[in-house]
Amino acid sequence: MRCVMCGHNRLRVGTVDETVLVGELRFIAQLPAMVCPGCGEDLVSAETLRGLERGVAEALARDGARTPEAFRYMRKAIGLKAMDVAELLDVTPETVSRWENGERQPETRAAKLLGILVIDHSAGRAEIQTYLQSLRKDRPAPPTERRLHLPAQLLPHPA
Ligand SMILES: [Zn+2]
Repeated sequence: MRCVMCGHNRLRVGTVDETVLVGELRFIAQLPAMVCPGCGEDLVSAETLRGLERGVAEALARDGARTPEAFRYMRKAIGLKAMDVAELLDVTPETVSRWENGERQPETRAAKLLGILVIDHSAGRAEIQTYLQSLRKDRPAPPTERRLHLPAQLLPHPA
């Protein structure tokens, strides 16, 4: 691997402190990087930066952050478009836009729900998002009678 700045060809494995600003909040994290001994340039992989983004989003979620910037950051970190999040939260895309541009403070319940989605994602799951998507307003009504197939753990054997 060559340094893109000076052409040095013996980059070393090292670390770099990366700072992320989310509105007035500042997050600093140490990331693995390839460091150039020639010019000091450091190279962080896109995958590592993606991990940083997810970590910042999770910290925002766990802090209950609900500034416009935090809301937008969390939404983007889990790959949702403003339109998608509007549908999941049962609000109009205009409302999401007002929350994110600071015209209105994001609603507490909406920020909590987005936080739940972020935490679900960082645990490597998407059950909550899938569940919310399944509740779309235009979905057909479920049948009034149906047979349920219950998992065994819900059905203790009679003693
Ligand atoms: Zn260099």
